[in-house]
Amino acid sequence: MTSKAQLACRVCGLIQIEPPWGKDGNSPNYEICDCCGVEFGYEDSSLTGIKNYRKKWLQTGKNWVSKDDMPENWNVDEQLKNIPVQYT
Ligand SMILES: [Zn+2]
Repeated sequence: MTSKAQLACRVCGLIQIEPPWGKDGNSPNYEICDCCGVEFGYEDSSLTGIKNYRKKWLQTGKNWVSKDDMPENWNVDEQLKNIPVQYT
């Protein structure tokens, strides 16, 4: 089974269809997060990178790069809770 922690974007916490860093947590798939727009395996490849990207995303309005995928009742604070604690 794939856990929620494996499926969450490390930057914004959006649950992905496939684990962004693979089942071993070490094999990024280089997809783009629909929400924050991070490329898995690129900007999120270090804790500093994750924190910087998240900070910038939060400060610039928490915009979805794929606006059509944004749920009507989207709650950023709830989503951010999905981020595994080691990446916060
Ligand atoms: Zn994201």
